[in-house]
This record gives sequence, C-alpha cells and structure tokens, in this order.
Amino acid sequence: MHNEPLNDWAVATLAVRAGQQRTAEHEHAEPIFPTSSYVFDSAAQAAARFSGEEPGNIYSRFTNPTVRTFEQRLAAMEGGECCVATASGMAAILSTCMGLLQSGDHIVSSNAIFGTTVVLFNKFLAPFGVQTRYVPLTDLMAWRKAITANTRILFLETPSNPLTEVADIAALAALAHEHDCLLVVDNCLCTPALQQPLKLGADIVVHSATKYIDGQGRCIGGAVVGNKDLVGEKIFGFLRTAGPSMSPFNAWVFLKGLETLSLRMRAHSQSALALAQFLQQHSHVVAVHYPGLESHPQHELARAQQSDFGGVLSFEVKGGKQAAWKVIDATRLLSITANLGDAKSTITHPATTTHGRLTDEERAQAGITDGLIRISVGLEDIKDIKIDLARGLG
Ligand SMILES: *Cc1c(COP(=O)(O)O)cnc(C)c1O
Repeated sequence: MHNEPLNDWAVATLAVRAGQQRTAEHEHAEPIFPTSSYVFDSAAQAAARFSGEEPGNIYSRFTNPTVRTFEQRLAAMEGGECCVATASGMAAILSTCMGLLQSGDHIVSSNAIFGTTVVLFNKFLAPFGVQTRYVPLTDLMAWRKAITANTRILFLETPSNPLTEVADIAALAALAHEHDCLLVVDNCLCTPALQQPLKLGADIVVHSATKYIDGQGRCIGGAVVGNKDLVGEKIFGFLRTAGPSMSPFNAWVFLKGLETLSLRMRAHSQSALALAQFLQQHSHVVAVHYPGLESHPQHELARAQQSDFGGVLSFEVKGGKQAAWKVIDATRLLSITANLGDAKSTITHPATTTHGRLTDEERAQAGITDGLIRISVGLEDIKDIKIDLARGLG
C-alpha cells in the first residue's frame, strides 16, 4: 500500500506518513472515527469476527481506525512490532504490569521515576502480591544485586526527572536478559524522536502521550510498544478486557502531534541547552542538571544513546527554598505547573510539589534539594525565557 512504512524511512518521515490507510473518500489528512461499534454484512460475518476467524473491527474498546493509525505510527517510530494506545500514561504502565505479571512476581525499578508510578507499584500492585525494589538509576551493581529469582521486570526512565540522570539502556537490557527479565523503559522525556530504547535492547517502551507527543497540553493518553507476543497479545488482552482504551479524538490529536515531534524536540533541546549554559554562568546558581552540558556525569552516554538532550533541565539556586520560590514567583511568562512537554515553558519546585510527600531524608537521598527548580523548556523565544528567569535570580 502507498503508505506502508519503508524500513529505511527516518523517524521524521514515519512520523508524518506511517499508519495511514485512506478510505474511499481519498482524504489527505487522517479522519476521526467516533464510533463505539461496527456493523457486519451478515450473521456469519459477525460470528467470524467474534471467534477471531476473520480480522476486523468489533467494538472500539478493542480497536478503532483512528487509534490504530496512531498505534502503527508510534510503533514504526519506536522500531517496535506492535503498539497499544491507552487512556493515559498511567494506564500504559498499569496495562503492562497487568498483562505481564502475576502474584509473586517482582519488579526492580529505578528510584528516580514519576511519583505516581511509585504509588501504583507500592499501593496498588503490592496488595496483589507484586513487590517492587528500588535502586539508583545509574548504579549497575545495585540493579544486579536487587534481582531475585522472581524478578520479571526492570523498570526505568531515562533521562530521569528532575535531575536528568542517564541510564545505560543497552547495559541494563543485557542484565535483564541474563536473568530472564524484561526491560521496560518509560520513554516520555526523550520520545522516539531522540531515543529508541527497543533498538538498544529494551523489550517494552511505555509512554505518556500527554507530554511531548501531544506537545501542546491538550489530551491525556499513553501507549505501550513492543513485540507481538508481549504487547499484541498479553498487554492488548488486558486492555481490551479491562478497557483503559484511548478515545479516537485523543488519538487524532496525538497522531497530528507526532507529525511535528522531531521538529519540536529539536527546538526544545536547542533552547534547553542555551538556557542550561546561561544558568551555569549565573552567580546565584550552584548547579545545573542537563545531559547536554559537558559537566554532566553521563554526558558522553547521553550523546551516544540519544540524538539530542531533550527539553527538561533543573538547577539549584543559592539560598534554599526561599530563593527558589523567589525565582518562581518572579516569573511572568513561565507557567507555574508541574506538567512538562508543552509548547509553554513550565517551572516547578520539586521539593514542595512532585516530591513533597517524601520525608526529608528520602528527599535528600533522591538529591531533591530545597533550592532545586525544574524547567520544562517550551517553544517561546529563548531570549524571553532567560529574561523571565533572570528577574528572580537577582
Ligand atoms: C506524566 C508521566 C506519566 C503519567 O502519564 P499520564 O498521561 O499523566 O497518566 C508517566 N511517566 C512519566 C515520565 C510522566 O512524565
């Protein structure tokens, strides 16, 4: 077919072209199919669809043409066989766990992951007999030591948020496979435009499409990408039964978002690097965390593993919480919100928001100091972002 992805198409081309199947109307842009169910030509066809003898749509909890276009496009961009779209990023992580784990199984996870994922593991999976052990993202020995005979999944985000630590995906994939485990990577911060974990050996990629894939802060959604057995059978099996499915409207917004993803990620990365360099030279800034800086401990790894360094950075100001709040409250352009991956730059104080529920000791261990500020660098002119931050830095 005309739009069948070719193996040698670059990610930016797949982002615009993969997954579209034109209808008889010959539309140029992708249509939205807001339908809950589908009709059959005959009772015999209905029976064949339900028994699985004949492929095709039955009900939009399972499949929908707009959602399928998004799934095929994202799968192609990640270099995976299969993708299932979900109602949110959290639904993607839940569906992965429910599809692949059973009582008695064990997860080893980076301790630097999205806070709600920790709540999902500790509060909602643990009562069903799935235990999680946490290790420092970049300490390969700690990962190795934490694996038990029951470990099924190694779980991580790289770069981490807000400290932008970078994990060696290939090394962790090798470790996982040595122990018959699966490596699951939350690729939310980089997106396939900058990093393709499956090509480095990871088994599954999960996404919050809510962030950069949408890119303009409109819809909640998620996705899981991997091979036919794990994603196409096991995780899809949970999704079609339990129903945390993506709506066709959201799928349409996300697939149009994918078309500009490579361009946007390059622009986010370029501005984030310029801002990191600006902050690094400021006398009131004690430290800047951004993988694009040569001073970053995993700068070389990030260079090798990613095609650019992403739009999220954090920095620490002199004077602790009071000084950090002063910088945040002095902004007039940046949005004070914990969200990220938007065209609008956002600023947040992790110690009192995203990491506010940790004890002082846990927070210190996680490296979240009182003077730390996180920025998700948007698409505004970098000059205006610098002016907005400089105001509160004195
Ligand atoms: C936001 C986020 C999630 C959760 O996604 P939702 O779409 O909000 O459910 C998961 N992982 C990371 C890294 C995130 O930033």
